[in-house]
Amino acid sequence: MNQSSGSQIFSAQAACLAEVGRAFYSRGWVLGTSGNFSAVVGREPLRLAITSSSVDKGELTADHILQIDAEGNVLEGSGRPSAETLLHLAVVRLRGAGAVLHTHSVWSNILSDTYFADGGLSIEGYEMLKGLEGISTHEHREWIPIIENSQDMTRLACSVEEAVTQYPGTHAFLLRRHGLYTWGKDIAEAKRHIEILEFLLEVRGRTLP
Ligand SMILES: [Zn+2]
Repeated sequence: MNQSSGSQIFSAQAACLAEVGRAFYSRGWVLGTSGNFSAVVGREPLRLAITSSSVDKGELTADHILQIDAEGNVLEGSGRPSAETLLHLAVVRLRGAGAVLHTHSVWSNILSDTYFADGGLSIEGYEMLKGLEGISTHEHREWIPIIENSQDMTRLACSVEEAVTQYPGTHAFLLRRHGLYTWGKDIAEAKRHIEILEFLLEVRGRTLP
């Protein structure tokens, strides 16, 4: 990838991530400055487009998206990359994801607490599961691991690495009383996964015993 095509990819992804972020804000999934989004610009060397820290997601524009390297150094744009950059990098590295999206929804907060002691949450029997990549029947059982939240991002990234390695079939994980992470081969697939999973979490939440 030469520099100009990399720059074009970054610009297109920045615009796309901003649009996705505003749409998620309008659904109430990333209120205030919560949530963060990333997409792979190039893999050799790794380049990531990612939201900068402390931006109101209802006002998100392409100017709020930074290009960073595999260590989180900013290569393009101004501001600090999201505090949760290490988690995005871990998912990209271990899952080969092309995009990682993270929401702070009400239902992900409630369910990640309710099922924390079980280590995760299973969802099965719903038609909407077929919206997850590789799933072709409602009879699928999706296991979403739940990880204890922490402000120590190095420690949290280690927990994320463990969870996505331990459950190679999962499409997502929850951080306790914090939110949902999912990913996809590109932004469109990751966006679809957020929509599907937020739907399923809400259904599970509304039917809690
Ligand atoms: Zn978060």
